[in-house]
Amino acid sequence: MNPTNSEQARERIEELRSTIAAHDHRYYVLAEPSVSDRDYDALMAELLALEERFPEHFDPSSPTQRVGGEPIEGFATLPHSRPMLSLGNTYSEDELREFDARVARFLGDDAPESRTYTAELKIDGVGIALRYEHGRFVLGLTRGDGGRGDDVTQNLRTVRGLPSRIGPRRTDTPGASAANRGAPPASEVAIPEQLEVRGEIYIRRSEFLAWNERREAEGLPRFMNPRNTAAGTLKMLDSREVARRPLRIWLYQVVSPESHGLTSQSNTLAYLRALGFPVEPHGAKLVGIDAVLDHCREWSERRLALDYETDGMVIKLDDYALQERLGFTSKAPRWGIAYKFETTEAVTQVETIEVQIGRTGNATPVAHLAPVELLGTVVKRATLHNQDEIERLGVRVGDWVAIEKGGEIIPKVIRVLEERRTGEETPFVFPSECPVCGAGLVRAEGEVAVRCTNEFCPAQTKARILHFVARGVLDVEGVGESLVEQLVDRGLVADPADLYALQKDDLVQLERMGEKSAQNIITAIEGSRSPSLARFVLGLGIKHVGGTAARVLAERFGSLDALRTAKEEELIETPGIGPEIAGSVRGFFSREETLALLQKFERAGVVPLTQEPILPDREAGDETAPLSGKTFVLTGTLANRTRDEAAEAIRARGGKVTSSVSKKTSFVVAGEAAGSKLEKAQALGITVLDEAAFESLLES
Ligand code: NAD
Repeated sequence: MNPTNSEQARERIEELRSTIAAHDHRYYVLAEPSVSDRDYDALMAELLALEERFPEHFDPSSPTQRVGGEPIEGFATLPHSRPMLSLGNTYSEDELREFDARVARFLGDDAPESRTYTAELKIDGVGIALRYEHGRFVLGLTRGDGGRGDDVTQNLRTVRGLPSRIGPRRTDTPGASAANRGAPPASEVAIPEQLEVRGEIYIRRSEFLAWNERREAEGLPRFMNPRNTAAGTLKMLDSREVARRPLRIWLYQVVSPESHGLTSQSNTLAYLRALGFPVEPHGAKLVGIDAVLDHCREWSERRLALDYETDGMVIKLDDYALQERLGFTSKAPRWGIAYKFETTEAVTQVETIEVQIGRTGNATPVAHLAPVELLGTVVKRATLHNQDEIERLGVRVGDWVAIEKGGEIIPKVIRVLEERRTGEETPFVFPSECPVCGAGLVRAEGEVAVRCTNEFCPAQTKARILHFVARGVLDVEGVGESLVEQLVDRGLVADPADLYALQKDDLVQLERMGEKSAQNIITAIEGSRSPSLARFVLGLGIKHVGGTAARVLAERFGSLDALRTAKEEELIETPGIGPEIAGSVRGFFSREETLALLQKFERAGVVPLTQEPILPDREAGDETAPLSGKTFVLTGTLANRTRDEAAEAIRARGGKVTSSVSKKTSFVVAGEAAGSKLEKAQALGITVLDEAAFESLLES
């Protein structure tokens, strides 16, 4: 929804405020967020923009005006000596430049070289305040609601690297960077009578993995990610349990720095280090926003090689006198900002590499990984595609790697972090025989893929059946990997059509299968007897025919018979179907095995639905089609159509559907709970259609 008047805006603002409050509670109190930070930040940005456009709905208790946490039960709550604030954030370089421009306006000086910033990695952990008296650690508070925090002193005493006593230390350690220059010589640092410092509690990736593995071996559930685990751990009432967990700390702030003679952030980092506090070693002092941006770009990649998670770069005006002139909003300083990195990547270790045989016999190497969270799910495997890719990446068993989720269901390895090699890693040798049936693996001329040459290889059979029942294909609930494995191994099923001959009694004899589950599975199989033609064609597993090609073919030919008997020229004339797909479809339907399989389906009563064929002149390439030349992006949930149905309706009228909003997008269709795509559309001034407007466009 894009509110056009104050009343609509009020409704959306209230909705956003209560959604954000619920996310805050899950994140700060329960340490169990249910959405990604990126999605949360998009909701917050939408709320900020609306509150700015409709200032009549200002409310001091809005989440845009307050720090998000709250004290929790079980701990004494104490006031902070100075509020513990949040930071404004941005994901875009343009907004970082705007931040610099705002700073310039405030200071009344627009020469870029007159602004010196520190850039510190933003540790993805939990903020904490520590008090020292005469050099002894006496009190530690969580951020709480920013005004008051929980006294977690006992838990903090167990944190590795947190000094219980401070004292001067030499500062010329290797790795100390530009931000340290100008540090007071160690001998001149006196132990302050009173000192309050702030920093971040975190867990190292390597220690998190090892600890999770120990937990799994003990039959305990794994933790999802280091940040939430650190937050949850700090709030535990049993300090002995906390002591068993590998918490660590980095410090980055001194409260009331003037009373310690500190005049800049770079000074402060050096001072903290000189007193013996752990300080993240990559802080940099940079002149001008261009240098800051270069630094951010460089670290958006380099950070992945670190043993701790970082979610951005904190940019602060270095000079405290200038900081003071800028001051604070109710929630965050005006002199600093967090530039957040996109988190589509994660870092983990390759445990083994296994070759899997797919439904057409293709042998795909898959890396088994130490489990790691990526965009809200735990990833354990990533594809390495083929031998060439293994060579290109240079990946070895035992390597630390960066993985990425693209459009595929299974993530891929994108880079080896060579700097983390220990010499223990072992190169992977691609097998020459199928690891399942022992037949030769052959590389066909001109192809990168290596294939198992035995069509009756059980791995291929299993993969074909699993593909047929998968989500988005025939969607047969309850038929998963372990069931198919058993069915094929026991000779109960040799192709997807055999599924329809299964009886409840066949299933009950299988491992871990009760009467009720067996019945549910039989019911699910029964329920899949009339699939749409597109899904059935996809389910047949014809080489090169993915979801899009299957849909296009179903729309064009309307029935299985028409498709089965279509001539190669007719196939090629179908928009989106090239000679390669056409050849493969033709080849598939002229094989005797295919005809036998189709007859078997028919006998089993599996009949795909027929539909009105869309003849070529109404297709996407046709300029007279009503939505020809128009590009749509769908976001949010529509009440009357699924996303797929909406997309199909657009395509049937000659329009195109893409997944991301750009200047080329003609319309964004926004359903309920539309998120960042809607915002982007608004920012680019693209026409946004609600469901009713979309329906009337389709009708016209
Ligand atoms: P923040 O975490 O984005 O930034 C402020 C914090 O950064 C500071 O309090 C400090 O703890 C930390 N920090 C790390 N390194 C630092 C450094 N070098 N200098 C200064 N500070 C440093 O802000 P926040 O208010 O703590 O949390 C808001 C963010 O938390 C949101 O932007 C979102 O990403 C996330 N969040 C997510 C959910 C969710 O449901 N996923 C809910 C609430 C908040």
